[in-house]
Amino acid sequence: MIGSLTKDCVIGILGGGQLGRMLVIAASRLGYKCHVFDPNINSPASQVSTFSTQANYDDLEALASFAKLVDVVTYEFENIPTDALDVIENHVNIFPNKEALFTSQDRLIEKKFLTNLGLRTAPFANVENAQDLNNAIKKIGTPAILKTRRLGYDGKGQVRINENTNLDNILTQFQNAPCILEGLVNFNKEISIIGARDQNGAVSCYDPGENYHENGVLKTTLVPAKINQKTSTDAVLLTAQILNKLNYVGVIGVELFVTDNELLINEIAPRVHNSGHWTQNGCLIDQFEQHIRAIGGLQLGDGKRHSNIEMTNILGDEIKKLDKFVNDGKSAVHLYGKEEIKPGRKMGHINRIYEV
Ligand code: AMP
Repeated sequence: MIGSLTKDCVIGILGGGQLGRMLVIAASRLGYKCHVFDPNINSPASQVSTFSTQANYDDLEALASFAKLVDVVTYEFENIPTDALDVIENHVNIFPNKEALFTSQDRLIEKKFLTNLGLRTAPFANVENAQDLNNAIKKIGTPAILKTRRLGYDGKGQVRINENTNLDNILTQFQNAPCILEGLVNFNKEISIIGARDQNGAVSCYDPGENYHENGVLKTTLVPAKINQKTSTDAVLLTAQILNKLNYVGVIGVELFVTDNELLINEIAPRVHNSGHWTQNGCLIDQFEQHIRAIGGLQLGDGKRHSNIEMTNILGDEIKKLDKFVNDGKSAVHLYGKEEIKPGRKMGHINRIYEV
């Protein structure tokens, strides 16, 4: 395990997307080298990493070789197969731990974990067949949202159900994968909070951000979120509770719904999070460095917000219209090095300081 900064330490990162890329950049500032493992060649993270392996997550030999070459392993997405983790854990520590990963990989397990902690979520029920679906609708009512338990992201793998929805064959559109039915929350705001826990159990949270989505994809995060002090404090406390219960090491993202009188958890992500990108220009120590500090056995840094920040994702073709932001001198532009532009694809983001 890494306990102090030495130039010989190598951090292994599973996943070579933009989150991995920004982790590599933060790690290199602290003097670490990184080794990125990703199925794609020229991934955003491998472009900036000292070492990289291009192999699939079911290539157990490649995973073992990778694990032998690094001092600690972390990951930038949660859908990593269990086998991959088992192979890696034979050689080296994985942070955040497997329990955190398994809890967040399955929406049902995640919601049970949260409610067992006394935390609130939308009402939910397990749905594995048509009979379950009928029972779930009787219990929860409509409107509701049917989501696949696993592998959903950015609003994919989910469908809204109202009283007129034809339920025949609705499960087949998810290939009969296990699902969860959630009651539709009538929220006023969506917020998220980024927390961190180090190897000694110290916890630190960033200010909550207010999130706006377009077609299910995060578009903008505003900090400070326009919420009252109690809501903000509650968000910090519940994040600490989750981190402690999981004996967590690293950064976590917690997405929340704010209603008139409740704070409900939508989901947790055991990794750095898109809604925490504002920290790069709003705090001395951003979420990426905080994560590297935690997994590297260092103390957490100062994550106090020094500015009001608007973070805007650059999606798809918007990357072709960047000149105005680059030239205005008031936008911090962060690009991910993705060659192929696809509609809605996250190509980069912009952080701007604004006055409230
Ligand atoms: P998710 O993939 O679960 O994060 O859902 C994507 C988006 O769908 C969320 O950011 C919300 O805007 C919306 N959403 C998800 N679940 C619910 C719910 N139970 N009630 C209301 N809106 C939801």
